[in-house]
Amino acid sequence: MRAVVDKDTCIGCGLCVATEPAVFVMDDDGKALSVADTTDENRDAVQSCITGCPVNAIHEE
Ligand code: SF4
Repeated sequence: MRAVVDKDTCIGCGLCVATEPAVFVMDDDGKALSVADTTDENRDAVQSCITGCPVNAIHEE
């Protein structure tokens, strides 16, 4: 599984980047970008990002 950010929906609040910086980074447009797969180690943090995103811009594929 891998988290995917809908860049059209993301408002660049930075919550996911602050919560799990090993998975989410800010791109040059000020929108979050997922750069790593979901693993046993980061699963809880990624899930927290998904549920915590204020505009529901993150899902997993
Ligand atoms: S938490 Fe949601 S809105 Fe905020 S930066 Fe991450 S994807 Fe974008």
